[in-house]
Amino acid sequence: MSRNQSVVHIHADEMEGRSRRYVKRARDLTGLFINEAAFERWLAEDPERVIYYVDEFRRSEDEGDLIFGISTLTPGHVGREFHMTRGHIHAQNDRTEIYECISGHGLLLMEDLAGETLITELRPGDVAYVPPAHIHRSVNVGTENFRTLFCYPADAGQDYEIIAKSQGMRKLVIEGDDGLWATLENDAYVPRV
Ligand code: ZN
Repeated sequence: MSRNQSVVHIHADEMEGRSRRYVKRARDLTGLFINEAAFERWLAEDPERVIYYVDEFRRSEDEGDLIFGISTLTPGHVGREFHMTRGHIHAQNDRTEIYECISGHGLLLMEDLAGETLITELRPGDVAYVPPAHIHRSVNVGTENFRTLFCYPADAGQDYEIIAKSQGMRKLVIEGDDGLWATLENDAYVPRV
Protein backbone atom coordinates (compact mmCIF):
# COMPACT_ATOMS: atom_id res chain seq x y z
CA MET A 1 0.00 0.00 0.00
CA SER A 2 1.13 3.60 -0.48
CA ARG A 3 2.47 5.62 2.40
CA ASN A 4 -0.22 8.19 1.76
CA GLN A 5 -3.06 5.77 2.19
CA SER A 6 -4.47 6.24 5.65
CA VAL A 7 -7.76 4.36 5.59
CA VAL A 8 -7.86 0.77 6.78
CA HIS A 9 -11.07 -1.24 6.77
CA ILE A 10 -11.53 -3.89 9.38
CA HIS A 11 -14.00 -6.62 8.49
CA ALA A 12 -15.01 -9.77 10.32
CA ASP A 13 -11.87 -11.65 9.41
CA GLU A 14 -9.92 -9.35 7.14
CA MET A 15 -8.02 -6.11 7.55
CA GLU A 16 -8.18 -4.46 4.15
CA GLY A 17 -5.35 -2.00 3.54
CA ARG A 18 -2.93 -3.74 5.88
CA SER A 19 0.80 -3.32 5.32
CA ARG A 20 1.56 -6.92 6.07
CA ARG A 21 0.37 -10.14 7.66
CA TYR A 22 2.54 -12.53 9.60
CA VAL A 23 1.42 -16.04 10.32
CA LYS A 24 2.47 -18.47 13.02
CA ARG A 25 1.93 -22.14 12.29
CA ALA A 26 2.08 -25.05 14.72
CA ARG A 27 5.64 -25.82 13.63
CA ASP A 28 6.74 -22.27 14.50
CA LEU A 29 5.82 -22.67 18.15
CA THR A 30 8.45 -25.13 19.37
CA GLY A 31 9.41 -24.42 22.96
CA LEU A 32 6.36 -22.30 23.69
CA PHE A 33 4.31 -24.84 25.63
CA ILE A 34 5.44 -26.49 28.83
CA ASN A 35 4.37 -30.08 28.11
CA GLU A 36 6.78 -31.30 25.43
CA ALA A 37 5.08 -34.67 24.88
CA ALA A 38 1.71 -32.96 24.45
CA PHE A 39 3.32 -30.48 22.07
CA GLU A 40 4.75 -33.29 19.91
CA ARG A 41 1.32 -34.95 19.69
CA TRP A 42 -0.36 -31.62 18.92
CA LEU A 43 2.28 -30.80 16.30
CA ALA A 44 1.89 -34.18 14.61
CA GLU A 45 -1.84 -33.53 14.02
CA ASP A 46 -0.90 -30.93 11.37
CA PRO A 47 2.37 -28.99 11.62
CA GLU A 48 1.20 -26.53 8.94
CA ARG A 49 -2.00 -25.35 10.52
CA VAL A 50 -2.23 -21.68 11.38
CA ILE A 51 -2.40 -21.01 15.12
CA TYR A 52 -2.41 -17.22 14.93
CA TYR A 53 -1.87 -14.40 12.49
CA VAL A 54 -1.38 -10.68 12.78
CA ASP A 55 -2.49 -8.10 10.23
CA GLU A 56 -0.96 -4.70 10.75
CA PHE A 57 -0.79 -1.19 9.44
CA ARG A 58 2.79 0.06 9.73
CA ARG A 59 3.49 3.30 7.97
CA SER A 60 6.87 3.80 9.60
CA GLU A 61 8.85 2.96 12.72
CA ASP A 62 9.41 6.61 13.51
CA GLU A 63 9.02 8.13 16.95
CA GLY A 64 5.54 9.62 17.21
CA ASP A 65 3.98 7.28 14.67
CA LEU A 66 1.65 4.41 15.60
CA ILE A 67 1.43 0.79 14.51
CA PHE A 68 -1.95 -0.90 14.80
CA GLY A 69 -3.59 -4.06 13.64
CA ILE A 70 -5.62 -7.14 14.39
CA SER A 71 -4.35 -10.28 16.05
CA THR A 72 -6.35 -13.48 15.49
CA LEU A 73 -5.59 -16.42 17.78
CA THR A 74 -7.30 -19.77 17.23
CA PRO A 75 -8.83 -21.76 20.11
CA GLY A 76 -7.34 -24.99 21.40
CA HIS A 77 -5.01 -26.63 23.90
CA VAL A 78 -1.55 -28.10 24.08
CA GLY A 79 -1.80 -30.40 27.06
CA ARG A 80 -3.71 -28.27 29.55
CA GLU A 81 -2.35 -24.98 28.23
CA PHE A 82 -4.48 -22.81 26.00
CA HIS A 83 -3.29 -21.54 22.63
CA MET A 84 -1.23 -18.39 23.09
CA THR A 85 1.03 -16.03 21.21
CA ARG A 86 4.80 -16.11 21.66
CA GLY A 87 4.73 -12.87 23.62
CA HIS A 88 7.33 -10.11 23.87
CA ILE A 89 8.47 -7.03 25.70
CA HIS A 90 9.01 -3.82 23.79
CA ALA A 91 12.67 -3.31 22.92
CA GLN A 92 12.19 0.26 24.12
CA ASN A 93 10.50 -0.99 27.21
CA ASP A 94 8.88 2.25 28.30
CA ARG A 95 6.57 1.96 25.27
CA THR A 96 2.99 0.97 26.10
CA GLU A 97 0.17 -0.66 24.15
CA ILE A 98 -3.57 -1.23 24.16
CA TYR A 99 -5.56 -4.25 23.04
CA GLU A 100 -9.31 -4.14 22.46
CA CYS A 101 -11.17 -7.41 22.15
CA ILE A 102 -13.19 -7.59 18.95
CA SER A 103 -14.42 -11.16 19.28
CA GLY A 104 -13.95 -14.25 21.36
CA HIS A 105 -12.76 -14.63 24.94
CA GLY A 106 -9.17 -14.34 26.00
CA LEU A 107 -6.60 -12.92 28.34
CA LEU A 108 -3.76 -10.53 28.11
CA LEU A 109 -1.10 -12.16 30.30
CA MET A 110 1.46 -9.60 31.43
CA GLU A 111 4.51 -9.78 33.65
CA ASP A 112 6.89 -7.10 34.87
CA LEU A 113 10.66 -7.52 35.08
CA ALA A 114 10.45 -8.58 38.73
CA GLY A 115 8.04 -11.38 37.78
CA GLU A 116 4.79 -9.82 39.00
CA THR A 117 1.87 -11.10 36.92
CA LEU A 118 -0.98 -8.95 35.67
CA ILE A 119 -3.93 -10.51 33.84
CA THR A 120 -6.70 -8.68 32.00
CA GLU A 121 -9.61 -10.85 30.88
CA LEU A 122 -11.10 -9.68 27.62
CA ARG A 123 -14.48 -10.10 26.00
CA PRO A 124 -15.74 -8.02 23.07
CA GLY A 125 -15.46 -4.32 23.85
CA ASP A 126 -12.99 -4.73 26.71
CA VAL A 127 -9.66 -2.96 26.51
CA ALA A 128 -6.38 -4.03 28.12
CA TYR A 129 -3.58 -1.57 28.78
CA VAL A 130 0.00 -2.84 28.80
CA PRO A 131 2.02 -0.65 31.19
CA PRO A 132 5.68 0.21 30.51
CA ALA A 133 8.21 -2.62 30.91
CA HIS A 134 5.69 -5.46 30.87
CA ILE A 135 6.07 -8.66 28.89
CA HIS A 136 2.74 -9.44 27.23
CA ARG A 137 1.05 -12.25 25.35
CA SER A 138 -2.49 -13.16 24.31
CA VAL A 139 -4.14 -16.37 25.47
CA ASN A 140 -7.35 -17.76 23.96
CA VAL A 141 -9.43 -19.23 26.78
CA GLY A 142 -12.59 -19.47 24.66
CA THR A 143 -13.90 -21.76 21.97
CA GLU A 144 -13.75 -19.42 18.97
CA ASN A 145 -11.09 -17.16 17.48
CA PHE A 146 -9.87 -14.52 19.93
CA ARG A 147 -9.39 -11.29 18.00
CA THR A 148 -7.94 -8.06 19.30
CA LEU A 149 -7.27 -4.65 17.85
CA PHE A 150 -3.87 -3.48 19.12
CA CYS A 151 -2.05 -0.16 18.91
CA TYR A 152 1.43 0.84 20.08
CA PRO A 153 4.15 3.43 19.39
CA ALA A 154 5.91 2.71 16.09
CA ASP A 155 9.39 2.93 17.62
CA ALA A 156 8.68 0.34 20.35
CA GLY A 157 10.28 -2.73 18.73
CA GLN A 158 9.87 -6.28 20.07
CA ASP A 159 12.16 -8.46 22.15
CA TYR A 160 10.98 -12.10 22.05
CA GLU A 161 14.07 -13.56 23.73
CA ILE A 162 13.27 -12.27 27.18
CA ILE A 163 10.66 -15.01 27.61
CA ALA A 164 12.93 -17.79 26.33
CA LYS A 165 15.72 -16.67 28.67
CA SER A 166 13.53 -17.19 31.73
CA GLN A 167 12.11 -20.44 30.30
CA GLY A 168 8.65 -19.02 29.84
CA MET A 169 6.49 -16.60 31.72
CA ARG A 170 6.03 -17.15 35.42
CA LYS A 171 2.38 -18.20 35.14
CA LEU A 172 0.89 -20.78 32.83
CA VAL A 173 -2.74 -20.40 31.78
CA ILE A 174 -4.44 -23.78 31.83
CA GLU A 175 -7.91 -25.20 31.59
CA GLY A 176 -9.22 -25.57 35.12
CA ASP A 177 -11.15 -28.55 36.46
CA ASP A 178 -14.36 -26.53 36.07
CA GLY A 179 -13.68 -25.97 32.36
CA LEU A 180 -12.74 -22.34 33.01
CA TRP A 181 -9.22 -20.97 32.95
CA ALA A 182 -6.81 -21.04 35.84
CA THR A 183 -3.18 -20.14 36.38
CA LEU A 184 -0.40 -22.44 37.45
CA GLU A 185 3.13 -21.59 38.58
CA ASN A 186 5.68 -22.39 35.86
CA ASP A 187 8.22 -24.61 37.67
CA ALA A 188 10.83 -24.03 34.95
CA TYR A 189 10.72 -20.26 35.39
CA VAL A 190 14.08 -18.58 35.96
CA PRO A 191 13.74 -15.19 37.70
CA ARG A 192 15.36 -12.26 35.91
CA VAL A 193 16.40 -10.36 39.03
ZN1 ZN B 1 3.61 -5.34 22.20
